[in-house]
Order: sequence, then structure tokens, then C-alpha cells
Amino acid sequence: MGFSHSTLASPTQANSAVNLAALSLDNGSMSGITTARIQARQLATRDSSRVQLAGNDTNKKQAAAAQLAKARAAKLTATQALTSKRASALAKAKAAADAAEKKARESATRCEIMLTGYHITATFGQGGSRWARNHTGLDFAAPVGTTVRSVMKGVVIFADWAGAYGRQVQVRHEDGTVTWYNHMSKFSVSVGETVYAGDQVGAVGMTGNTTGPHMHFEVHPDGGEAIDPAPWLRDHCGLNP
Ligand SMILES: [Zn+2]
Repeated sequence: MGFSHSTLASPTQANSAVNLAALSLDNGSMSGITTARIQARQLATRDSSRVQLAGNDTNKKQAAAAQLAKARAAKLTATQALTSKRASALAKAKAAADAAEKKARESATRCEIMLTGYHITATFGQGGSRWARNHTGLDFAAPVGTTVRSVMKGVVIFADWAGAYGRQVQVRHEDGTVTWYNHMSKFSVSVGETVYAGDQVGAVGMTGNTTGPHMHFEVHPDGGEAIDPAPWLRDHCGLNP
């Protein structure tokens, strides 16, 4: 019980006491205290610089992260630009291909065989009791309803009943040649219509003078007399029916 509250010194008083005590100490002790203070100060400084260093590291990391984000963003933009450029190039290529395909499809010289699944039953110039004069076309026998197509691009100039020819379609092509499609069961076109090679004009039938279902095909250069369709198909279309 040596002390009471009243006897306790305030912190200021305590410091003064320490200072007074330090003054009363000899040089050796004094320098010991000073050394301790300097060390304490140095330690504090070092801690402070560590904090700064840590701060610097954080700043560097943040800067590096920002740089990386920036680089990534740039790369993304570049990729997007490239993707957009590629998409645009692809679209252009597709448009060009479509235009080329359309141009090829609409070409005046392109040919398509008039029907498939046929067999030739009579050739041009054949004589016989079936015809009043020698056969004026090429007969493609096929089941009734088989699609009959225009051999080349042209304009339909006739689509009507034509006596012994039955249902007949005539197509005038750009070089003036007229092709005839006969004995058909129906019409798929009307006069004035433009057809492209391969477009349906009708279907195989047995209308007019015929002993069985077939498509009698004729070729009339400049709308004149019929010629042999076989060499015409070969020379104009590379077709050998
Ligand atoms: Zn015929």
C-alpha cells in the first residue's frame, strides 16, 4: 500500500522524471538511451517504408492489371473488328456466289435435259405408218405425269392444244430457235412467260396422235422447218439423249 491515487504521476510528469533521470545519468548510460531511441526511430522508419513498399507493390500490381485489361480490351476489339471484317467478307463472297449462281442459272446458253427416266422410242426422219411424213422430232417415252422442262432459257410463245400434237408448248430461245414439247398431259406455263433451263413447262401425257405416253420434242431454227434434235442437243447443250 505504498502508493495512493494522489501520489501517481501524470504521463507528462513521468516523462519529465525520465528526462531528469536521463540528465543525471553518466554519458555511457545517456548514449545507451539515445542509441535505443535511434534504433526505435529507425525501426519505425523501416516499417513505414515497408508499408510504402507494399503500397508501391499494390500500385504496380494495379497498374499491371490495368495494362492487361487494356491489352485484353484492345485484343477483343481487334478480334471483333476481324470477326466483323470476316463476316463482311463472307457475306460479300456469298452474295457474289449467289449472283454468279443466279447468272449461271439465268444464262441463255445453259441447257437442262427436258425430262429424266425416259427412253428414246423414235428418232428424227424415221418413216412409217405412224406419221403422215417422216418423223419430225425425237420421242422420249416416260410415264404420264413425268415433269417436262424447257431445255434452255426462253419465252413461251405457244401453250395450247395443237391437233395431232395434243397439248403443245413452244419456247423461243434467245438465238431465235423454237423448241416444241408435245402430247403433254398438262401445261405449267402460259404464253409470254420467261422460262429458264430446267423450268417445268408441262408433264408427259398421251394427248393428240400417240400410241403411248411420251414427249415428242422438236427443234425449229428461227421458227422454221424442224431439224434433227439429236445433233442440235449435242452441239448446243452437250446432251446425248
Ligand atoms: Zn414423235
